[in-house]
Amino acid sequence: MRSKPRIFLIYTGGTIGMSKDFETGALKAFNFSKLLHNIPELKLLDCEIDTFSFKNPIDSSNMNPEHWTEIARTIESNYENFDGFVVLHGSDTMSYSASALSFMFENLSKPIIFTGSQLPIGDLRTDAKENLITAIQIASLQENGQPLIGEVCLYFEYKLYRGNRTTKISAEHFNAFASPNYPHLVESGVNLTLNKQLFLPVSNNDNLIVHTRLDNRVAIIKMFPGMSESVLSTILSISDLKGIIIETYGAGNAPTEDWFLDLIKKTINKGLYIVNVTQCSGGSVDMGKYETSTVLKNLGVVSGKDITTEAAITKLMYLLGHNIPQEDFKTVFETSLRGEISL
Ligand code: ASP
Repeated sequence: MRSKPRIFLIYTGGTIGMSKDFETGALKAFNFSKLLHNIPELKLLDCEIDTFSFKNPIDSSNMNPEHWTEIARTIESNYENFDGFVVLHGSDTMSYSASALSFMFENLSKPIIFTGSQLPIGDLRTDAKENLITAIQIASLQENGQPLIGEVCLYFEYKLYRGNRTTKISAEHFNAFASPNYPHLVESGVNLTLNKQLFLPVSNNDNLIVHTRLDNRVAIIKMFPGMSESVLSTILSISDLKGIIIETYGAGNAPTEDWFLDLIKKTINKGLYIVNVTQCSGGSVDMGKYETSTVLKNLGVVSGKDITTEAAITKLMYLLGHNIPQEDFKTVFETSLRGEISL
C-alpha cells in the first residue's frame, strides 16, 4: 500500500501568523507553533505534514533575495523526502517571491505552492484556514503515484494560479490576487476543478537544478506624463546598474521626445538591458504597433511581452546572475522559461 503524500510546510511570516502588538496595536509576525495550534484541522488531512519556520518570521515587505535563497535551499534539502511544498508567506510580496522561486527551480517535478491570508489565522473571520488547507490538498494531488503539479503556484481565495503570472490587486478583499494574462490552474468549489491542460509539463527525467545567483543591480521605472529628463537620467546613470524594467503605457508605448530616446540609446550602448513591460494590468507589449514604440524596438529594448512586473524584475535578477552573453540576452528574456510569458 502506498503511503500518504508527504507535504513540507514552510512558514516565512505574513498576516496568516500575525497577532496584534500589545503596546502599539500593529500586526506583527509571531511564532509558528502558535499558528499550528490554531489549525487542529491539519491533523484531519489525508497527508503527512512536516514543518519548518524562518527563525525570525517576517512581514513580507522585508522579503529579499537572501530569504528567497533560504526558501529554495530549504526545499532543495527536503526535496527527495516530500511530495509537495507549501510556503506560507505575506501577501504583499508573494507574487515577487513566487516569481523568483519559479526561476530559481529548473526541472521541477513537485508542486511549490505559496499561500497566506488577509486576516490572521486567529481572527474569527479569517481566510487563512481555507487557503492553507486547500493549498495543502492541492500540493498532495497525485496521479499514478506521481505529483500532478510540477511548478511554482500561488493559492488564494479558491483559486490556484501559476505563481509568476500573479499580481496583488487588493489590500481589502479576500480575493487579493489576479492572473490577468493566464487562466487559473485550479478552482476550489464543492470539488476541485483542475484545468490540467494549463499546467506546465511535470519534469520527470531531468534532475532538479536550484539557481541561487540573483543580481539585484536592477531597477523598475514607471513612466508618467511629465517625467523629467533629470529624474530619468539620474536613475539611468547609477554606476552599478545592470538592467532596468521600464513600465510603459499600453502596448509598450513611450514618449518620442529626443531627450527620452537619446537616454534610452545611451543606456543600451553602455551595455545595460532595458526591458519594456506594460503598466496596464492585462495585455501585452507589442513594440512597433504604434509609432511611439517603434524606435524603442529599433534601439534594442527587450520586449517583456505579457509578463507581469513581478516576474520581469525577478527574471532580470535571475538572468543577470547567470551572465547570459550580451548577444543572447534579448532572445532569452523574450523566451518563456517557466510559463511566465505567452508566446
Ligand atoms: N503585510 C503583510 C505581509 O505581506 C500582509 C499579508 O500577509 O497579507 O507580510
